[in-house]
Amino acid sequence: MKTLSQSVSYDVQDGVAVLITDNPPVNAMSYHVRQGLVDGVREAENDENVEAIVLHCEGRTFFAGMDISEFGNPDVPESPSIRDVIEELEGSSKPVVAAIHGTTLGGGFETALGCHYRVAVPSARVGLPEVKLGIIPGAGGTVRLPRVLGVELALAMMTAGNPISAQAAFEGGLVDEIVEGDLVSFATTFVRKVISDGWPLLRIRDFDENLEEARENPAIFDDFRKEIARKSRGFKAPEAIIQSVEGAVNLPFDEALENERRLFVECQNSPEAKAQQYFFFAERQAKKIPDVPKDTPTREIQSVGVIGAGTMGGGISMNFLNRGIPVTLIEATQEALDRGVGTIEKNYVRSAKKGRITADDVELRMSLLTPSLDDEDLADVDLVIEAVFEDMDLKKSVFKRIDAICKPGCILASNTSYLDINDIASVTTRPEDVIGLHFFSPANIMRLLEVVRGDKTSNEVLATCMKMGTGLGKVAVVVGVCRGFVGNRILSARMRQSDDLLRKNAMPKEIDQVIYDFGFPMGPFAMRDLAGLDIGWLKDETPDKETDVRHQLCTLGRLGQKTGGGFYDYEEGSRTPIPNANVEQIIRDAATFAGLQREGISEEDMLKRMIYAMVNEAAKILDEGIALNAAAIDVIWVYGYGWPTYRGGLTYYADQVGLQNVVGDLDRFAKEYDPELEPAPLLRRLAEEGGSFGKFVQPAG
Ligand code: NAD
Repeated sequence: MKTLSQSVSYDVQDGVAVLITDNPPVNAMSYHVRQGLVDGVREAENDENVEAIVLHCEGRTFFAGMDISEFGNPDVPESPSIRDVIEELEGSSKPVVAAIHGTTLGGGFETALGCHYRVAVPSARVGLPEVKLGIIPGAGGTVRLPRVLGVELALAMMTAGNPISAQAAFEGGLVDEIVEGDLVSFATTFVRKVISDGWPLLRIRDFDENLEEARENPAIFDDFRKEIARKSRGFKAPEAIIQSVEGAVNLPFDEALENERRLFVECQNSPEAKAQQYFFFAERQAKKIPDVPKDTPTREIQSVGVIGAGTMGGGISMNFLNRGIPVTLIEATQEALDRGVGTIEKNYVRSAKKGRITADDVELRMSLLTPSLDDEDLADVDLVIEAVFEDMDLKKSVFKRIDAICKPGCILASNTSYLDINDIASVTTRPEDVIGLHFFSPANIMRLLEVVRGDKTSNEVLATCMKMGTGLGKVAVVVGVCRGFVGNRILSARMRQSDDLLRKNAMPKEIDQVIYDFGFPMGPFAMRDLAGLDIGWLKDETPDKETDVRHQLCTLGRLGQKTGGGFYDYEEGSRTPIPNANVEQIIRDAATFAGLQREGISEEDMLKRMIYAMVNEAAKILDEGIALNAAAIDVIWVYGYGWPTYRGGLTYYADQVGLQNVVGDLDRFAKEYDPELEPAPLLRRLAEEGGSFGKFVQPAG
C-alpha cells in the first residue's frame, strides 16, 4: 500500500489498483482527496502491473460531495479541481470502476459518472441535490446525466434534487451492477471481467443516443418548464439546470461543460443561492437547544394516544401509524369517532390508489389504530396528544382526566394553536411531563412541528419530543409559551395588517397578489378561505359586528373553500379564487360604517406593511426568548407557512433589506397607519448598532 496524499492511498491487488480514500466523516472531496486521486490514476497508468482501477472510500460513504469548508478559501489551490479529477478518471486508458456505498451526492456522484463503470451496494443512494442550495451541478453532472437517463428523467432528477436508491439508479443505467457481499472484492472481480471479456471503456461523454429525442423534439424543454412552473417559481437554479441540459443536447461536449460552468457561476453568485445556502445552515442552527445537552436521556415512545379525531387528531394519528406505532384514538361521540376513523382510512385508500403505498400498508396501518370512546384505554400509552376544540376549560378537563388515568412517565401533550401550555399543565400533578406539540394542517403532510416548552417541562420530555418529531420526519423547533407561539403569533401580526389594508385600502385580490408575488404560495385571504373563516369566529359574541368583514361573511355562510365561497368564490372542484362583487361591497360598507375613508396605496407599501409587521413581531419574539435564535423563526415560516426559501427566511430577508431601512419604514407606518407598527426595542437597538438578526445571540439564562 502506498500513500498518495493525507487521505488517498494506492494498493495493487492482482493487477487492479484500488484507490482508497479515507477522509472522515463523509469523504468530502477536499484538495488532498482530489490531488490523491489524480496522482493515483497517473500512477496506475504508468504501472505496467496494473490493468484496471477501482475507486473505493473507507467509512460510511463514497464521496458525499465537495468540501464546503474550502468554499471561498483563497488558501486552497485551484488545481486539481473536481473537473480535473473527472477528466483524469474518464480519460484513463485502463478501466475505472466506482465502488459506491452510502450517500453519494453532488461532486461525489459527478466523480462516479466520470468513471467507466459503477457498482453499488443495495443501500446506496446517489443524487445531484445542488438545486436545493440554489446552484446547479458544476462538474459535468448536467451534461453527463441526460446522456445516461435521457433528458426528461435527468431534468426531473436534478430539478427536484432528491437522491435515488441504488436500485432506481441501476434501472436508469446509472449503476451497472448491484453488489451483494463485499463491495471492494466485488468491484475488483467486476473490473477483471471487464478486462477479460474485452468490454469497452464506457465514457459517458461519448454517449449520444439518449439525447436524440430532445434534438428531434426541442419542445421537451418548454413542456418541462411548464410542468415545474408552480414549484420552481422565483428560484433561479431550476431554469439554469434546464438551460444547461439544453446545452448538453445542442453543443459539443466540451462547450456544454463550459456552458454549465458559466451557469453554475451565475447561480452561485445570485442572491437566491446565498439565501438558500443560509437556510441550509439555519435548519441546523434551529435544532440547537443550548441548555439541553445532547446526551439528555429520552423516553421510549412505543404507543400513542390521540384525543379528538377531528381535522388535526386524524392527521396526527397517521404520522404514528405510518411508522408502525400503535395509536389509541379517543372521541366524545361514536359519530365523531366513526367520521374520524373513516377519514383516516379514506386518506390511506387514496394514497394506495395513487400507488404511494400498497393495499397491505393500508391494512397494516389501520390494524394499528384502536378507536375508542373510553379514555381509560389510555392507561398504558407512552404519549398522549390532545387535539380537542380550542377551548381552555375543555382542555383543562381533558388534562385532569389523563393525568389521573395515564401511567407515570407518560408524556401529556397538547396540540393547541394559541393557548397557554403552563395554564394547561397547572391542572395536572406532573407539569414536568406536559408539553405542547403544535402540528400544522394537514398534520400528516406538513413537516413543521413547534415543540412548546412550558415553564416546568423537563429536559427529558423536551429531548424525547424533539427526537420523536425528527423520527416522524418532521422539522421540530423548540418554542416558548406565548399566544400563538412563534408561527401563529407572527401570522397574527400579518393578519392585523392585511385586515387593516382590506378596510382602508385594497381588495383581497390586490392584497393577496403582493404576497403571492413575493413568493408565498397564496396570500392571506386565500389562505383564510382554505383554513375556514369560522376558525376562531366568536359568532354572536363578535365585537363590532358591522365593521368585521369576517363576521359578515360567516353569517352569510361564506366559510371559505369548504362552502364554495369566503373572501372569494370557488367553482366546484376548483381551488382558484374568484373575486366576488358582493364581498367587495361588504368590505366597502364595513369601512363606511367604521367611518373610514378608503384610499389607494402602493403595492410596495402594502408589502412592506405586512412583511415588516412580521419582522417586528419576530424581534419581540426573540427579545422575549420565545424563539431560541433567529434561524428558528426562519425555519418555522418556511416549513409552516410557505416563506420562499430563495429569500432565505423572514429575519434573513430583513437583514438583507437592512434593519435601518426596516425601522425607518416602520416609524412612518406607525404614524400613518397603525401605532402597533412602532419598531420593537430590539429591532431599533440592532438597527442603531448596525447589528443584524443573524448575529443576534440570545443572552444566557
Ligand atoms: P376539530 O373540530 O376538527 O376536531 C376536534 C375534535 O375533538 C372533534 O372531533 C370533537 O368531537 C373532539 N372532541 C371534543 N371534545 C372531546 C373530548 N372531550 N374528548 C374527545 N374528543 C373530543 O378541530 P381541529 O381543527 O382538529 O383542532 C383541534 C386542536 O388543534 C385545536 O386546539 C386547534 O387549535 C388545534 N390546531 C388546529 C389546526 C387546524 O388548522 N385545524 C392547526 C394546528 C392546531
